This record gives sequence, C-alpha cells and structure tokens, in this order.
Amino acid sequence: MKAVLATRNQHKVAELRRILASAHLELELVGTDEFPDLPDVPETGSTFAANALLKAHDVARRTGCIAIADDSGLCVDALNGMPGILSARWAGSHGDDVANLTLLLNQLADVPPQRRGAAFHCAAAVATPEGDERVVEGVLTGSLTDAPRGENGFGYDPIFVPTGYVLTTAELTPQEKDAISHRGQAFRALVPVLRDLCAEGGTRTRTPEGTRT
Ligand code: IMP
Repeated sequence: MKAVLATRNQHKVAELRRILASAHLELELVGTDEFPDLPDVPETGSTFAANALLKAHDVARRTGCIAIADDSGLCVDALNGMPGILSARWAGSHGDDVANLTLLLNQLADVPPQRRGAAFHCAAAVATPEGDERVVEGVLTGSLTDAPRGENGFGYDPIFVPTGYVLTTAELTPQEKDAISHRGQAFRALVPVLRDLCAEGGTRTRTPEGTRT
C-alpha cells in the first residue's frame, strides 16, 4: 500500500521511512515530489493538529492515497506559547531560520534562565481519501539558551536544550535528536494507526478526487 507524506522535505520522508521499516510496516512511503502538480495547502488552522489535518485531507483527496502530514513549531513559555504555529514565519519570511532565531533571542534578551522554558510540538495527521482521519502528537520540553550553539538540525535547534540535557538539539547527532524529538514521538505514534489502515486495505481502490474504481 502507498502513503504520501505531505512534504517536499526528504529528511522527513527518510525519518518516517526508517520508523516504518523498524516497525516492519509494509507501506511504500513517498513525498509530494512524486506529485509535482500538488498545490501548497495554506496553513490556516489555529492549532498544529488543525494544520496537519488540513494538509493530510487535501493531499489524500487529490492523490487518492492515504496521506500523512505534520505541523510543528516551538512554544515559548515567556511568550505565552508563541511563536507556536507561526514558528516558520516568526520574522515574516517563511522558512528564514536565522531571522526567526535572531528575532526570538532578541525578544527574550531580558528573560532570566529560570523563565526560559519552551517546548517543541508536533502534530501528525493521517487522512484517507474517504475522509477518515487520526491525529497524534509529540512534545519535547526544554529551555532556551541566550546564544546559538551547534551545527546540526535546523530552525530553533541551536538555542534549544532538551530537559535533562546540556547540549542543544543542534549539538546532538541526528539519531540522538530523532530518538527524543517531538516529530520522532509523533511519527512513532503513527505506526499503530497506519498498521490498522494497512490491515483494512480498502482505501486503495480510489482514484484522485475520490472516484471509486
Ligand atoms: P514544519 O512544521 O516542519 O514546517 O516546522 C515549522 C517551523 O517550526 C520550522 O520552520 C522551525 O522554525 C520550527 N521547528 C519545527 N521543528 C523543529 C525542530 O525539530 N527543530 C528546530 N525548529 C523546528
């Protein structure tokens, strides 16, 4: 059975493939690169789960395949949970990691270490072409440094220290980060959901846009 992960980020596809393989799940996972005409889905929801569901339903409907989508971000205690769903565009330009991180550090300049708590959140949604849906979530708690450290990862990794660690997630290896990360937790929680869908198997008989063959 084939499932589409609603992302063009090959690192996410590879991470979920590793998790599915270690769970011995017979599911061929592809990214949206295989469907070059798919439009980007506007993330208009007010929660990570709502945005993940929007993307999963859109891709399932357009491709006729089971679709998986995730939405994630950093919630900062001292900012009442922001940037949250706005994490990727906190500094205004979508995906400008350095600008986002620099703005956040400036906003927290006067916040002392004991009030620099934060958490990465990830919601992962599965949708079928018939409109069935499931959402799972993962959370990684930690605190923020006052200067970037480390070369690995992306986004806010250079300023995020997971609870119980001294290194930032940009100083951990990719494998160390995957083992604890919000996305790793959410993707692993998808395994039983996908296993059920594989067992049912029936959703493969739909063509794009929902016409049953
Ligand atoms: P997306 O849901 O993967 O598009 O991520 C949204 C934004 O949240 C990213 O652009 C990053 O700014 C931030 N983010 C999500 N996950 C991580 C992570 O694992 N490390 C660092 N930043 C992250």
